[in-house]
Amino acid sequence: MTTSIAARLSAVRQRLAAAERAAGRPEGSVQLLAVSKTQPATAILAAYRHGQRDFGESYLQEALAKQDRLGHCDIGWHFIGPLQSNKTRAVAARFAWVHSLDRLKIAERLNDQRPPGLPPLNVCIQVNVSGEPTKSGVAPEQTASLAARVAELPRLRLRGLMAIPAPAADPETRRTPFRVLKQLFHELAGYGLDTLSMGMSEDWEEAVLEGATWVRLGTAIFGARPPRPPSTPQGHGAGSDALE
Ligand SMILES: *Cc1c(COP(=O)(O)O)cnc(C)c1O
Repeated sequence: MTTSIAARLSAVRQRLAAAERAAGRPEGSVQLLAVSKTQPATAILAAYRHGQRDFGESYLQEALAKQDRLGHCDIGWHFIGPLQSNKTRAVAARFAWVHSLDRLKIAERLNDQRPPGLPPLNVCIQVNVSGEPTKSGVAPEQTASLAARVAELPRLRLRGLMAIPAPAADPETRRTPFRVLKQLFHELAGYGLDTLSMGMSEDWEEAVLEGATWVRLGTAIFGARPPRPPSTPQGHGAGSDALE
């Protein structure tokens, strides 16, 4: 198990370096976020021992338990899942990044709740580039107005944009939503953004070609995901992860 995570991580790093070259981008311009949701703390530790430092989590209770167990590690924790009001206090206190910001109310709560001793919370606005009604994310045409408001919040640092496009079989089709996100990113140049969080295990090479600066890889690094444990049921609303 441990060796296979190390082996997958090595293979991903080699492919990432090759993808950067193919895109004509400098080596190291794309950062690797290891998405460890539903994976045990031991899997995180295996990747950590192999040099991985940034990890992405989607489910708050599960993430907090792993953070407690791995408190001795120098890990950058990224929250990448749907964010409801009742989770913002813990996320503001325990994470360095939020990739999934999609409304002002949540931004204001994170801003108010970010502890004074910590640097501003890095945030990306999640954009619903594929226009799927069930997906979270702000509509492309509303991104600029949300960015304007978020940029005014002193305890947040607006870094860029994130998207989870609908899966597509054909590589050229996969590139289109990434191009849409990059175009939006350029339209927001005045905010000094430096982050395009796009690309998952099935489409990250296309995302690198279109300018991704973080790729978020779960199965490519850890293998197939175990199901969520029964203690953190897959609720639709806010209830199950309540902390307040
Ligand atoms: C689960 C998840 C990923 C990783 O998915 P893989 O296909 O396993 O690489 C990336 N981003 C987000 C927001 C996720 O929820």
